[in-house]
This record gives sequence, structure tokens and C-alpha cells, in this order.
Amino acid sequence: MDFADKLIKNRELEKEEYVELFEDYKNPETAEKLSREAVRIRKEYYGDKIYIRGLIEFTNYCKNNCYYCGIRRGNKNAARYRLSRDEIMECCDEGYRLGFRTFVLQGGEDPYYNDQRMAEIVSGIKGKYPDCAITLSIGEKSKESYRLFREAGADRYLLRHETANEEHYRSLHPEEMSLKVRKQCLYDLKELGYQIGAGFMVGSPGQTMEHLAEDFLFLKELNPHMVGIGPFIPHHDTRYKDEPGGSVELTIFLLSVLRIVLPKVLLPATTALGTLDPRGREKGFCAGANVVMPNLSPVSVRKKYELYDNKICTGDEAAECMNCLDRRAKSVGYRIVCDRGDSLVK
Ligand code: SAH
Repeated sequence: MDFADKLIKNRELEKEEYVELFEDYKNPETAEKLSREAVRIRKEYYGDKIYIRGLIEFTNYCKNNCYYCGIRRGNKNAARYRLSRDEIMECCDEGYRLGFRTFVLQGGEDPYYNDQRMAEIVSGIKGKYPDCAITLSIGEKSKESYRLFREAGADRYLLRHETANEEHYRSLHPEEMSLKVRKQCLYDLKELGYQIGAGFMVGSPGQTMEHLAEDFLFLKELNPHMVGIGPFIPHHDTRYKDEPGGSVELTIFLLSVLRIVLPKVLLPATTALGTLDPRGREKGFCAGANVVMPNLSPVSVRKKYELYDNKICTGDEAAECMNCLDRRAKSVGYRIVCDRGDSLVK
């Protein structure tokens, strides 16, 4: 029995077994076998539904300096912007009209949005749209801050762990950041009753198959409601500008493995995947992904939220994005639905 069969049977592997499985990612037979099982599981729990999340990139100011990221504090060339409360609400209004029932507020770690301001934004949206889920993705905060946002009405939190390997984490982030804190944030969020999303980049500089195996061991232990993975894409104003981008093939392969290891998890087909391959998101759906996160930010700021180069969908109005995604989903036998799309993970 090979490791793909073993994974399908046991829904988990030992570290060394993951490594061997991942090293086989270019083997079409293995990839096929895994995606077939991933799609079977996804259909069992989520049918042919694809959930949509309206992404509002409300600030690109950041006090962190993650070496791979285009909006890190050290990038003096980034044109910075912030959306006002009213502008954020206008994005939600537009999103609600289009059928979105989840709003994701994502940004750099911008001290301007202190706890009070953040809580006001969250409760403002929740008050107006009580039938919608609010997701925050604003980085590392104290448990007290997370509690405050939760009380204000936040339901979910996305915080990719980025890599579960200490040394690899060190190489991607400056001294003042640590994997330990990052993980603690995820556990705090879970304890506070958030639906949490972890995740990592595929092919980030220095990443090995061992690192990826450690990501899977960590995710199995954390048991998050969502896992966001996308290929690393170099940004021209970072030290990694000449590094190769992550592999689309490997990303898709790992999506299938995630679906098998965490059957009920919500898995987005990410914008980064669509950026590196024009049919990347469709390929993601066919490998077990069941979420997309179209951009609801005002078109005027879209290009400025530049985590990596050549990001797609920066010119289209949200309505156009919806039509485009709907066509893409249908082309591979799935359909976009307009409900909150809560995770089945308990
Ligand atoms: N400040 C928030 C949001 C970060 S941006 C936080 O800390 O969680 C969301 C994700 O984009 C990051 O978690 C990272 O995994 C991804 N990202 C950043 N730079 C990238 C790059 N160059 N290529 C691909 N993904 C990138």
C-alpha cells in the first residue's frame, strides 16, 4: 500500500510519510487518487456549494515587517491607505446587495485601528447586518483584544500560522515576531469561540517538504475551521524578489491532502492561486476547495493592497467578480451560494 492509500484509509500520516507523499506530488496517478477522495469527501459534507466571502482590505499600513510581504513596514515604496468607517460600511452595503453574508476585514497591523475603533466598526456592521458573519484578519493581538472584538460581534478570525517550523519561521520574520506567539493567538481565538482559520504559503523561501509535513501535524492538532493556503508569489520590493513563486501543482495537491486530513474544513481557492494560474481557482475547486473570497474593497485602493506582484481582480467591480466566479464555478460543476457558510468543524 502506498502513502496515498494509507492517507485515504487513516486520514493522517506520520511526518516521514507525509514527506514521501509530498515528494510524489508530480505523479499524476497519486494526485488523481487524492483529488478523487477529496472531492468525494467535500461532496459528502458540502455538496456542490461554494461559499463566498467578501474581502475588505481596509488598511495597508503595517507595524510588522514580514520579509515576504509587500506591505511590510520597511517597504517605503508602498502607497499607504486606510478606509474610513463609512467607506468600510459602503463596501458591506454593496456586498450585501450582491448576496454576500460574510464580510472579511483584512489589513496590516495598523495601530490606528485601536481596540475601540475596531470594536465600533465590528458592532456597526453587525448591528446593520445581523444575519452576516464577520471575519477579522488583522494579525496578532492580546487575548483581551480578541475578546473585545468577539463581544462586539466578530464570528471568525483568519491568522495563518505561516509555517509550523521554528527555524523556518525565524527566517521569514524579523526577530520581534515568534511562532510561539502566533500559535498562542490561534489557541486564544479558539478558546474565545471564534471559528478560526490557519494556513501557510506553499513554496515560501526556504520551505522544505519536512516543513510542510510539520504544517500538517500542527493543523491536525489545532483542528481549525478553515485553512488558507496559496502559493508564495515574490514581491518586487522585498528581499525575496528574485525567488521563484510556489508551485500551483503542489498547492492543489496539498488542498486535496488537507481535505482528507480535515474532512469538514473550509478551504478557499485563493487569489494567489488564481494569480499564478488563470484556471488556478477552478483547479482548486476540483481538488477539494469550497470557498472563494472575492474582493469588496473600493477599486481605487485595490492595487495598493499589494502583498505580492500581479495580483488579479484589482480592476473589476465586485459585481463583475461575482459573475466571473459564478461562471468559473459552473464550468467545473459547482455553484456559488449566498449563505453564511459556517464551518461544520465543531
Ligand atoms: N496582517 C494580517 C493579514 C496578512 S495578509 C495577518 O498578519 O494575518 C494575508 C496573508 O497573505 C498572509 O498571512 C500571508 O500568508 C499571505 N502573503 C503575504 N505575502 C505574500 C506573498 N508574497 N505571496 C503569497 N502570499 C503572501
